[in-house]
Amino acid sequence: MEPNSQKRILILGGGFAGISVLQQLQKIFKNNKSVKISLVNEDNFFLFTPMLPEIASGIIHPSDISIPLRTFCKNEKFYQAKVSAIDMKNKLVAITRAFDGKVKVLDYDYLVIALGSTTNYFGNKRIEKNSFTMKTIQDAIAIKSHMIHMMEIADQEDDKTVQERLMTLVVVGGGFAGVETIGELNDFVKESARHFYRNIPQSNIKMVLVSAAKDGILPELDPDIAKKATESLQKAGIRIISNTKAVDAGDNFVFLGNGETIPCSTIIWTAGVTIDSVVSGLDCEHIAGKVVVDSHLRIPKYENVFVLGDCAAITDTKTGNLYPPTAQHALRESKIVSHNLKSAITGKDQDKEFNYESKGMMAVIGKRSGIASVFGYKISGTVAWVIWKTYYLTMLPTFEKKCRVALDWTVNLFFKRDITLVGKIKKKSLNEFNITTLDDVLFKDERQASEQKS
Ligand SMILES: Cc1cc2nc3c(=O)[nH]c(=O)nc-3n(C[C@H](O)[C@H](O)[C@H](O)COP(=O)(O)OP(=O)(O)OC[C@H]3O[C@@H](n4cnc5c(N)ncnc54)[C@H](O)[C@@H]3O)c2cc1C
Repeated sequence: MEPNSQKRILILGGGFAGISVLQQLQKIFKNNKSVKISLVNEDNFFLFTPMLPEIASGIIHPSDISIPLRTFCKNEKFYQAKVSAIDMKNKLVAITRAFDGKVKVLDYDYLVIALGSTTNYFGNKRIEKNSFTMKTIQDAIAIKSHMIHMMEIADQEDDKTVQERLMTLVVVGGGFAGVETIGELNDFVKESARHFYRNIPQSNIKMVLVSAAKDGILPELDPDIAKKATESLQKAGIRIISNTKAVDAGDNFVFLGNGETIPCSTIIWTAGVTIDSVVSGLDCEHIAGKVVVDSHLRIPKYENVFVLGDCAAITDTKTGNLYPPTAQHALRESKIVSHNLKSAITGKDQDKEFNYESKGMMAVIGKRSGIASVFGYKISGTVAWVIWKTYYLTMLPTFEKKCRVALDWTVNLFFKRDITLVGKIKKKSLNEFNITTLDDVLFKDERQASEQKS
């Protein structure tokens, strides 16, 4: 085969969108040596994000929802590297290896951009510094370790005010990620305290969900079903503050737009996403950083470049709104991209347009509790929880990981939570605990006594 008769497809991003395009192209171009496919991703694994909150609550083992990208690649080349620049005019992509910063330039005939989104702190550096987020496997592991660490300290604390601050968790963001995260952590912390940290009364554990949405949480859902979710969370002891934004945060507090300050030792920020500058800086039209594509999911100015998933701005012609950034949509979009790549390369088929109506939405909001709106049916409670578990288990790639997650869930039904604190926890400043010097610790009681005397 003439080397230049071979068509090179370069896929950027190994998330839901990128992997699904890869798998479909493998089927379309099976045994076809005239097409060469390469994949670039920063991590060497695909992350199944819907189950991420269950990593933070210790139900699932981190590697059970992380699938090495090389297991998806058959004859395709995989580069574990960061995409650092895209030059669509010259059909070149620069990638940088994390290990040594070495830059490599890849060329392509067709480009698929599926680089997802990153956390948006809206420029608030103090919130960024003082909060966790829930986007990567490292985030979920860090949150779990931090929560166990807080329980270890709180259990030793006799001052109930300090203990309450240590045991107050604030999740900012009333969307799916925020709701599922607080639901999971509420169960994890309360169950762990009941079984292992007996000096922490349940009444001293405070869970707060802050949502900017006017009418409560989960604004993307039917209001009836969102109300059910609110009621379930409240029944589980979670305080919901809606129509309010978090505007400032420090080591041990979060300050809200309604003027309230909440003393706390854990803040998790799930309130917004943005697009990495490597995508938002591309020479084409954007909406909030996302790349505007036509109904064939191509960039109008660059017919050989397809964009999909969270980093694409795709207009729903029925409503005039953008399609939401969900895994469900990314998977559907991937079918159109693969088909249109096939039609471009083989010249045999007509292009297809992306036109999709969601079959439903669902969320788990704690142990044996969920909400779902599927095919027009509104379901809540244990039935919705079972539907969620069944659906996402079938969606999880590879039989091995399905078995591992099913086993994790089964084990969790019969055993107590795992509170092993593995690895070193990031040291927080002493002033988090109102301690400034060692003298403060050693001579605090004497000093207080002499202050009282004088
Ligand atoms: C906690 C949580 C729970 C969620 N739950 C659900 C749910 O229940 N249902 C649902 O439908 N959706 C859910 N979502 C949303 C869903 O995860 C996203 O919509 C989906 O992942 C989008 O797919 P994507 O391929 O566009 O992006 P991603 O899956 O994020 O993939 C992007 C990939 O690109 C890589 N990447 C990014 N930048 C670079 C770079 N510069 N160089 C190299 N690689 C890079 C990333 O490492 C990643 O692998 C959830 C999201 C979160 C965070």
